[in-house]
This record gives sequence, C-alpha cells and structure tokens, in this order.
Amino acid sequence: MNETISGVRTRFAPSPTGFLHIGGARTALYAWAFARHHQGTFILRIEDTDVERSSPEAVQAIQDGMAWLGLAHDEGPFFQMQRMARYREVIGQMLQAGTAYRCWCSRDELDAMRAAQEARGEKPRYDGRWRPDAGKVLPAPPNGLDPVVRFRNPKDGAVKWNDLIKGPIEIANAELDDLIIARSDGTPTYNFCVVVDDWDMRITQVIRGDDHVNNTPRQINILAALGAVLPQYGHVPMIHGPDGQKLSKRHGAVSVMQYHDDGYLPEAVINYLARLGWSHGDEEVFSREQFVQWFDGQHISRSPARFDFDKLRWLNNHYLKAMANERIAADVSVRLARRGVHTREPANAKIDLAAVCGLLKDRSSTLEEIAELAMMFYQVPHPSAEQLTETLKPEIRPALDAFAMACTEVEWTREAISAAIKQVVSAQRLKMPQFGMPMRLLVFGRAQTPALEAVLALLPRETVVHRLRVGLSHAL
Ligand code: GLU
Repeated sequence: MNETISGVRTRFAPSPTGFLHIGGARTALYAWAFARHHQGTFILRIEDTDVERSSPEAVQAIQDGMAWLGLAHDEGPFFQMQRMARYREVIGQMLQAGTAYRCWCSRDELDAMRAAQEARGEKPRYDGRWRPDAGKVLPAPPNGLDPVVRFRNPKDGAVKWNDLIKGPIEIANAELDDLIIARSDGTPTYNFCVVVDDWDMRITQVIRGDDHVNNTPRQINILAALGAVLPQYGHVPMIHGPDGQKLSKRHGAVSVMQYHDDGYLPEAVINYLARLGWSHGDEEVFSREQFVQWFDGQHISRSPARFDFDKLRWLNNHYLKAMANERIAADVSVRLARRGVHTREPANAKIDLAAVCGLLKDRSSTLEEIAELAMMFYQVPHPSAEQLTETLKPEIRPALDAFAMACTEVEWTREAISAAIKQVVSAQRLKMPQFGMPMRLLVFGRAQTPALEAVLALLPRETVVHRLRVGLSHAL
C-alpha cells in the first residue's frame, strides 16, 4: 500500500489571473500529497504567458493561499515569462529536426479554409498545406509575412494513456491537427510551454483539472517528438456546487483566502478538500499527515465532486473544538480589532479572551462567528426597546435589582453566580427564562447567550453590575 515510487516530481501550475480558486487548491493538494507520500518533489510553476490577464497581485494571491494551506513547494516558483529563451531554443530544435514546420497561411486564408470546410459539412481544421510531407512540393513562402510554427502531429494511429484517475483514454491522431506552437511574432503558445516545462522539470505525474484533458494528447505527441520520457497523467474532475452546476460565487466562497477571511481553519479546509472526491474507507476526519500517508493517487472519484458547505462548517467546528483556546484567541483578537475592539486596552484586558473563546467555540462553526459572539462581552449593550418591553415586566424588576445587589458580594465564579441566580429566581417565584431573558438583554444586548452564569462569570463583576444598573435605569 505504502510503497514509494522513487523520484516522484509533481507540480502545480496555476495561471495568475485572479485568486487561488478552491478547486485549484484541491488539485494542488493532490499533487502535493502525492509527492509527499512518495517522498518526492513538489514544484510551483506560474503560467503567466497570458500577459493581459496575469498580474503580480494574482501571483501573490496564489502564494498566500498555498502558504495558508501549508502546501509548501520544494522547487520554484518558476515563471514561464522568464523561460522564453528556452522555449525559442526548443522551437528551433524542432524546426531542425522536422518535427515542426513554418506555415505562412494568413488569417484570410485560414478563414477561407474554414468557410469551405463548413460549407462541405466538415469539421474545421488546418488542412496541412505547409506541412512538408514526402514528395510534396510546397508553395514559395510569401514575402513580408512572418510565419507561425506548427507541430507536425502524427497522421495515423492514436494517442493512448492510462489516466491515473480516469483510466485508459485513447484519441485518434486524425482528430488532432497541426497545432501552432509559435505565433508569427515568435512567442510560444500555451500547450507548448507546458510541454517544455514538464519535460525540463522532469515531472513524473501531471495531476491537474480535467478541463485540460483535451490538451493531453497534443502534449503527449509533442513530448514524444522531443524524445522525452512521458509523465503519467491524472485528471481531477471538477467541483460542482450543491445544485450540480459548476462551483461559482453564487454557491459560496470560491477563493481560498475568502475561507481564511470567513474564519475557517486551514486544517479543516485541507481535511475537507482531501475528502472531496477522494476516500479512504469511511474516514471523514483526518490530519494532513494521515492524508499524506494514505494518498497514493488511488480512490479519486471519476465524477465531479459536490461541494457541501454544511459539511465544511461541521469539520471546522470539529477542529475549532480541538484547538487550544489561546490559539483561537490570538486569531479572534485580530477579528475583534477589525470590529473596533482592541483587546489589549485596559478595560478590555480584564476579560479573559481565551476563556471567552473556550466557551464560544462549541457553538461556533468559524472564527468569525466566535468573534461576532465575543462582541457581546466588549460592547456596550443596546437591547431593542421592543424586546425589553416584552421581557422586562414590572414583576421581574425586583429580581434584577436583587441580583445586582447580590453581585457585589457573591464570589465571582460560575458556580457561585449560578447559586445566586437560583436564589433570586426562587425568592421572587419566577421561572428561569423570565429572569434570564431580560438579564441577557440588559447585560449582553441579546436574547441568546450560552449559559447565563457562564457568560456572566467571564465579565468583570463591576461590568455586570454597571450594565445592569444602567440598563435598568434606562428602562424605567
Ligand atoms: N495553467 C493551467 C491552469 O491554471 C494549468 C496547466 C496544467 O496544469 O497543465 O489551468
């Protein structure tokens, strides 16, 4: 099961045209884990040849996302724009070897070719008019026109590979026409750069999204023409939303760093993405290390995965509960600062944020939710007038006054506070919610909190008394 293929080299090759997409991150995770499983090498390559759409911010976003997820690369990042000389060199070699040729078809000619083919009911394709086949006389190159370079794709036979995920795939060469590998200005095209990089970087397994499956036969043919050792290919199916459509913003966050901002833990996201479209028996909750140990490239689903936001939230809650309160507090204090609460300020420093997080984490799915709930400890409460009138009935006030009094002398622990509440409630012959509701509204500004004695014990005694008295006087 755990045998090691020696010399495994995988890569993640994103195009830096936006944020790091959660689907891309899953592909990266699989490529990374496969390399780690085999004690191999994981390479980061930035495919930035689409200059119009690529940006340094997007490169940064990819690196931030990978770093946050803990997917460290061993080599790179390599940038395709810095490898132009190498691509040109290989194009020159292929022209020499006759595996590529120059083609002087103008755009008008190509348009006419397509129109004629369509009129005959044929699939539009390059008709090979500049392809130097044996015994063929080529036209004289026109003056003043720069040629493109085309790959001389084999005419017969088929390209076959045994996809690590999809199984055997076969495409007839007759389906593939002679791909342009260099434009007339000499710049190499997308598929060609990928091929040269995979070759130079000695990639052994190309693990990528199955939106690239159509490129693979062309890439295999070019690699074969270069005399390269072919990598294995594994095409990971797409991720769909819960409705079966391609995952998009409409369904929820698609950018990895949005999950960070929304308060997810990298451990949970890694666990979730690993399990999304891959399985190891019935295992649902496992660490990154465990995943690496299990992940040998098998058991990846052949059909698209469905993103289940509820399951991710459930997993995140699981990891939050297991996380040290101090670590949660360190993150939550940054989120509170964004809300204008600085936990180091003297008044706020009296509140033990780690203990607050410890109490709130059970009922929260994200760090953002913890921060949102934690605000009730730091913020002056502003209960709604309606809720107050509804709950703060005249017969309740004496109990609240009595409790405010009791607060000044009771030992400030959860147990003692609980006993004091019970005493006041029974002395005034009330039911617990009759007391609890207005108490929560007056001290925390909200109708729902965790157990009352628990939240009260986390506020300084004087804050509770103060909020209660102010609240009662306002509600006269
Ligand atoms: N740059 C491609 C993309 O972002 C990936 C190419 C590949 O993995 O071969 O979709």
